[in-house]
Amino acid sequence: MKTARDPRVLIIGAGMSGLLMAIKLIEAGFRNFQIVDKAPEIGGTWRENTYPGIGCDVAAHYYTYQGVPNPDWSTRLPQGAEIQQYLLGVVEQHDLRRHIAFNREVAGADHDGRSWTVRFKDGEVQRADFVVACCGLLHHPRYPDIPGLKDFQGAMFHSARWDHSVPLDGKRVGVIGTGSTGAQIISKLAQRPLQLKVFQRTPQWIFPLPDRRYSGLEKSLLRLFPWIARIIHHSYRVAFENLFAAAVIKPCWQRRLMSRLCKWNLTKVKDPVLRQKLTPDFEPLCKRLVMSTEFYPAIQRPNVQLIVDDIDHIAARGVVTKDGVLHEVDVLALATGFDAHAYFRPLELRNAQGQTLSEAWKDGPYALRTVAVPGFPNFFFTLGPQSPIGNFSAISISETQIHYILRCIELVRSGRCQTLSPKAEATDRFNAWIRSAMPDTIWVTGCRNWYMSKNGVPSAWPFSGARFRRELREPDLAEFETAA
Ligand code: NAP
Repeated sequence: MKTARDPRVLIIGAGMSGLLMAIKLIEAGFRNFQIVDKAPEIGGTWRENTYPGIGCDVAAHYYTYQGVPNPDWSTRLPQGAEIQQYLLGVVEQHDLRRHIAFNREVAGADHDGRSWTVRFKDGEVQRADFVVACCGLLHHPRYPDIPGLKDFQGAMFHSARWDHSVPLDGKRVGVIGTGSTGAQIISKLAQRPLQLKVFQRTPQWIFPLPDRRYSGLEKSLLRLFPWIARIIHHSYRVAFENLFAAAVIKPCWQRRLMSRLCKWNLTKVKDPVLRQKLTPDFEPLCKRLVMSTEFYPAIQRPNVQLIVDDIDHIAARGVVTKDGVLHEVDVLALATGFDAHAYFRPLELRNAQGQTLSEAWKDGPYALRTVAVPGFPNFFFTLGPQSPIGNFSAISISETQIHYILRCIELVRSGRCQTLSPKAEATDRFNAWIRSAMPDTIWVTGCRNWYMSKNGVPSAWPFSGARFRRELREPDLAEFETAA
């Protein structure tokens, strides 16, 4: 056995997962690590997305690191700015800023059989024993392939690149897309003095998850007795995993209950013609469920128009639908989603045999236990292929993955090996097991959803949250190629 040593770890991304990776490394006694981020500030998705109405539809006390409770959440469902504030507070609390290099974009990394040489866009290089990509899942805006986008003469931006310098009040504002993001934007903008034109390609089921403000007394109690926050965290996890997450896995009472509640919620739309336009022709949860008590009231307001005719093209003054009507708008917001299958790319990896990650993933992304790819030693990632996503807390999922990754790094620190990379057979076995569970899931019941990969297999976790934690409790060295 070799002498123990502190491997050098490079974390890519100072968002929710990257910060947690750093905290866990510190807690485990690692000092030789750095986080790099292409942006000038921490936060990832919560720094980048600032559209009106941005929030998280996972309960705040569950969308919180287990070890860093926050007694000050002001509402059950946290607003985006408040999550960013929480993350900034975590950085100060754990003195993480000194470990972060901002404005450092990684272009790629090459492995020579022993360690990684990481290449930055500015031409610099750095050596690392481990690279952990914590780049988030939904960070490549997907612009719609609608003809004429460039012809539009008003202001136009993607939801993830909201231009706050553009005035909206008194204007005609178009929103394309009615997913989770579109629903939040529409709910907020409808309350403002403007004309809102909503372009819906596919209606969504809306689950009425109620929000509420926390009182001063509740916050004081949480501050005095942090164990209450732990109980609330646990209770929300049990509730979310046993309702939303369980409902997607296979036909069960949770699926029927969710379905009934969504259908009941739709009855709040009083005008039958409007209700018909908003009625999906697929099962609730097939697409990622939109959670909102505000969307239906918003869409029924007199300043809001729902347009369901297919878009033909964008013209200089607005959106032209297939029926030939020009819907004039001054501002156009594209709430058209993200490329959910890019993961940490365009970052390119090359291993000692000269194989690139693009070559390894030419038939689609795959991983061992959602966190590593065969042939790429000591490279790990969070929220990778087949991760539990959608109606889970992404923080909770990252916690499980980071626990596993840390255990792998500890194997090297303890001298058990110098490098480890997943065995192809173990990875194939894992993915075959996942694929075998897909036919029961709601994602394959006939709708267009962003979980679906090009090869027709949803990139999501078809088992319970508890099963995910069990599968990632401890790395099994028999699943890895190791080198001393
Ligand atoms: P999304 O769910 O992919 O929705 C994109 C929307 O744009 C859909 O309505 C889609 O219609 C429409 N669209 C795309 N291309 C179009 C085109 N060419 N013409 C017309 N319409 C087009 O994206 P998202 O709303 O940004 O949400 C993505 C994910 O982010 C969510 O599912 C969720 O996981 C996460 N998110 C979470 C929260 C939260 O509160 N936790 C908030 C926002 C986002 P089709 O349905 O027909 O494809």
